[in-house]
Amino acid sequence: MSTRPDETVRRVRARVDGTVQGVGYRPFVYRLADELGIAGWVLNDERGVVVEAEGPAGAVEAFVARLSADAPPLAEVRGVQAEPVAVVGTPGFEIVASERGGAATAPVTPDSATCADCLAELADPDDRRHRYPFSNCTNCGPRFTIVQGIPYDRPLTTMAGFEMCDACRAEYEDPLDRRFHAQPNACPACGPQVRLIERNGSDVEGVEDPVRAAAQDLLDGRILAVKGLGGYHLACRADSEEAVGALRARKHREDRPFALLVADVDAARRLVELDAAEEALLTSRARPIVLARRRPDADIAASIAPGAPDLGLMLPYTPLHHLLAHDAGVPLVFTSGTPASWASRWCSGV
Ligand SMILES: [Zn+2]
Ligand SMILES: [Zn+2]
Repeated sequence: MSTRPDETVRRVRARVDGTVQGVGYRPFVYRLADELGIAGWVLNDERGVVVEAEGPAGAVEAFVARLSADAPPLAEVRGVQAEPVAVVGTPGFEIVASERGGAATAPVTPDSATCADCLAELADPDDRRHRYPFSNCTNCGPRFTIVQGIPYDRPLTTMAGFEMCDACRAEYEDPLDRRFHAQPNACPACGPQVRLIERNGSDVEGVEDPVRAAAQDLLDGRILAVKGLGGYHLACRADSEEAVGALRARKHREDRPFALLVADVDAARRLVELDAAEEALLTSRARPIVLARRRPDADIAASIAPGAPDLGLMLPYTPLHHLLAHDAGVPLVFTSGTPASWASRWCSGV
């Protein structure tokens, strides 16, 4: 009996259901096809992802199995239905333009906190995205807040107005790059810019680096409106009774506790006791506000959470928040709110 793998050429059409748009799923399928010598194509449609795969039967079988088994970190594959179709014989594998029409049911992923690779670039003075507040890749960045329609492709996002520069376009088109088909791909040369704005809407004068200037404003005790993904936060330094008191007075929020933004886990540990579960939650991609037991020596204003044994903490979830928290170097109050008349200045992407 032969144990040789089945070399008969087969072609299947597979529908992948679940959260598979905006998570680098098509690039993953492309690389998988390349690895296994599979021909065919992949596309996003209103329901999810559709793939056609052609090659030796054994390779096609392995390919279909790995569509769910090896899916990228942000994807959630609910099911893969594969059915045989006629062999076509065209070599190569491609990502084809999305299909339009029909009912939109494909789930779009939530925004996801900046990944370690993007953070490393942000901190690297030689990287072209050094301190760029809107850096992202297929493993992190905005999704839900920039999507205006499905399928999830750049023309149907708020990034449509930003034409990619040559360097970004090259990353976007390179199957081996982690920004391959990253829809919000951007850099300082072609993407959104951050601005520091006075209350009357004019740019703050003489500012070279708006984020550094915003951090200095916070250190000077100002209240800042910071535009993040999906809305504004009001921010001020958390270790200043004067700043926190002023924010409370303006928000008419007598004694409800304020949540705090800290630069990293070490900074969090200076304020609260963290067990393993709390730390895992704090560093998870959704970046929730985590309540943890306050340390007696936590250096924050008494009016942050009067009488409460716990503090609500979160870690930065966008490059802008990372930069601001690190530049300020002190815990910051981060509370939702509209800028209205509360903030001294606004720090926002344009
Ligand atoms: Zn990233
Ligand atoms: Zn660019």
